[in-house]
Amino acid sequence: MSNRKILLFYLLTYATISCKQTPVASYNGDNQNTHNYPEGFSGSQSVVFQKKTPQIFPSTCTPDRALADLGMVTLRMRVKEKEQNVTFNLSNVPGNPLSLPGLGNMLKGKVIAHIYEDCTATGPGVFSCDNSVVKTTQPGTPIYICESNPKPGTLEHETLAAFIGLYQLKVAFPKDFSLSEVLFFPSMVDQILLRKGGTPLQTSLTDNAYWSRDGEGKNRIVFLPHSQEMASMFPIPIWRQQTIAAHEGGHQIFFKYGAPLFSSQSKLREEDETETGSFDDTTQAWMSFEANAQEGSTTISTRKATMGSVISSMNEGAADIYAAIASGLQESLFGSGFEYQYRRKARDPFSKVNDDGKIKAITNGVLKHFFNDVATLPDSPLTPNHQDSHTLGAIFAYIFLALFEEEMTRWQLPASEQTSRCIAHIKQWQARLVKAYERYPDRNISLAEEVRVEDPKQFLRYLMQEMVNVYALPGKRLTQAQCNIITAHLPAFIPNWKKTLLASCPL
Ligand SMILES: [Zn+2]
Repeated sequence: MSNRKILLFYLLTYATISCKQTPVASYNGDNQNTHNYPEGFSGSQSVVFQKKTPQIFPSTCTPDRALADLGMVTLRMRVKEKEQNVTFNLSNVPGNPLSLPGLGNMLKGKVIAHIYEDCTATGPGVFSCDNSVVKTTQPGTPIYICESNPKPGTLEHETLAAFIGLYQLKVAFPKDFSLSEVLFFPSMVDQILLRKGGTPLQTSLTDNAYWSRDGEGKNRIVFLPHSQEMASMFPIPIWRQQTIAAHEGGHQIFFKYGAPLFSSQSKLREEDETETGSFDDTTQAWMSFEANAQEGSTTISTRKATMGSVISSMNEGAADIYAAIASGLQESLFGSGFEYQYRRKARDPFSKVNDDGKIKAITNGVLKHFFNDVATLPDSPLTPNHQDSHTLGAIFAYIFLALFEEEMTRWQLPASEQTSRCIAHIKQWQARLVKAYERYPDRNISLAEEVRVEDPKQFLRYLMQEMVNVYALPGKRLTQAQCNIITAHLPAFIPNWKKTLLASCPL
């Protein structure tokens, strides 16, 4: 079955952190794990349920009126916590229907049903089901765009807002970025049939975006609908930040250049799931954990941060870097970054600090939390969860870009030449990661247990060392500014690096 399993990487690990204070009674769970399984999958599965009602966007455009060339398009985008009109050049992109060579079918209205049978409740909103089946009930249709200034809230506007990040990534990585399919706001419906009978629970997957790759190599990006429940608190849909699409596409590029790492990440995770029954940092696991925490449960949830978790955080960090490159490597163009709910700085790779004002850094405390066997959430919703691979990845992305900025300042390279330089650097880092993994002592990707007894903390340090080496001067010397960045943001590694990587630094 493993070759049929779909690998998927979300923008957000879990979507309910901001609802921590919400009364438990209103929490009904949510399933973000449905498409872990391909079409036609049948087997036992657990599911978390939360009532979500997708927003529907009206469309008035007909094929006969659609634009052959979109030209200059103005959209209402989210830029630094506010919405503003932004004009994009989409010359030579057709709107009849919307397409871009190399990015596959762009579809709206796809309907995928995931039916869970013989389910029993095992926690608040959490069900264990003896059987589940995935079916596509409507294949979806092409999207037609009739206006270059579509009205916000229409299907045309929202589709283009989500499309922009894919377009920018394709422009930056014409040969590296490719997709089989892009689904805009599909209806992914969960039906939970209880063993004891009664009305089935029905809900939709919403409020996230993901990239997935199945066993046949088909890869797609899905923009899940914005829910009415989310819109009542956070009215701007996440895809109005162009970096969100680019981050998802970044996972595909990470896969392309880091295939051995990527495969081992997936393999390790799969083995972890089946062997230990404890959870790693998957969306589903955190959703269940959140549900239980809100219920006031004192159950201790165990987890195991493994080599797979370390690679996963690299993957997230690399995807953030690819998104930053797609947006032109300028904070102003990057605009809104990955603002989500109350998080404004945690996922912004240009922000030196988190939302709690603390510097983004790999400290001993962060490592202790990341590698802790017990799942815990930070006390404040403004503090990012360092057990989430996205959070660690965001720190890596920040350090990578800070080192890049230092180099550009030193070289005084014009902005026009910076993008290609940054692309070269991220590719070098990924190549070094692959090499580092190959060199890793007694690596055995087929046996998670054997890898687990190795020290993933050491591997993490090794990978960060390789990042620094991308920027090191001849003779592995570092500038004072580079030393400052490393000591400020990677303090946990200073004792190990004192006589090696940081030998040229005045410590
Ligand atoms: Zn991601």
